[in-house]
Amino acid sequence: MPSIINKIALEEHFSGPDLQPSINDVAFFDPQVLGSIEAALPEFAEQRLLAMDRAGISIAVLSQTAPGVQAMEDAALAVELAQRVNDFLHTRLELAPARFRGFACLALQNVEAACNELKRCVLELGFVGVLINGATNGAYLDEPQFAPFWHTLEQLDVPLYLHPGLVSEHSQAFRGHPELEGAVWSWTCDTATHMLRLVFARVLERHPRARLILGHMGETLPYMLWRLDSRAAVTTLGRSLSQPPSETLKRHLTVTTSGVCADAPLRCALEAMGDHAVMFSTDYPYEDIQLASDWIENAAISEAQRIKVCRSNAQRVLRLG
Ligand code: ZN
Repeated sequence: MPSIINKIALEEHFSGPDLQPSINDVAFFDPQVLGSIEAALPEFAEQRLLAMDRAGISIAVLSQTAPGVQAMEDAALAVELAQRVNDFLHTRLELAPARFRGFACLALQNVEAACNELKRCVLELGFVGVLINGATNGAYLDEPQFAPFWHTLEQLDVPLYLHPGLVSEHSQAFRGHPELEGAVWSWTCDTATHMLRLVFARVLERHPRARLILGHMGETLPYMLWRLDSRAAVTTLGRSLSQPPSETLKRHLTVTTSGVCADAPLRCALEAMGDHAVMFSTDYPYEDIQLASDWIENAAISEAQRIKVCRSNAQRVLRLG
């Protein structure tokens, strides 16, 4: 049944020709599942639009899939490939300008080049933000060299979607358990930790207008707000923050439902973060776009909340007008 809501989805992936994930990047997928994902990633015009139509999604914000350029050691090559994939995405957006928007791909191996590329993507190509696939060669965004990047985000007033990427070093807890890697669990730990590094390193105090988006229902953080505040308040560093971690998260962060189609975590995110801070997404083509759509249309939330989650929050966050 077609949806009554023209949904906007923010975590929808593609791959440019130079950045198709290698088999090593996605080795944990069942080969049969992987085959259909690989076929869908570079496709824009037919299957993707048809799937969006069936799911009642009017606008998909497209981003280069992980790992993209984030794990590349050759900085000059990463800069070149990021520019190339942004140009590629721009040509694809023009195939269906009413249906697609774009998040920039940035090679933060060279911060100055990444800032210039973000300006080009937003001001010249019309992209609505940037999506970063985790740490850049092991460097997390609270590290001091990234200050100009945060400044540029504030200047352009666009959100940073912090998406999981390849995790370069696992803690001992994962030793001998490769099944816990990737989307099953290790990406959640890494991405939630990345976000908390920004809070505790005071990046968001120094960049008060910076805005972030986390997928996967906030990577567990909405569920943890009370405990974060409670336990930070008994540490020296936590006490010295200008406000409790939950307040910083609520001020700077919105979350999407990508890859989580269950009412309980949705209601938790809405209650913990606020009605204005949760947005629908599907994580196409890694997750089932139709299942995500059918779920949100029937989720046990109010109709006013459903409209915010499916459309109006994204319009505000992405300045879609
Ligand atoms: Zn994703």
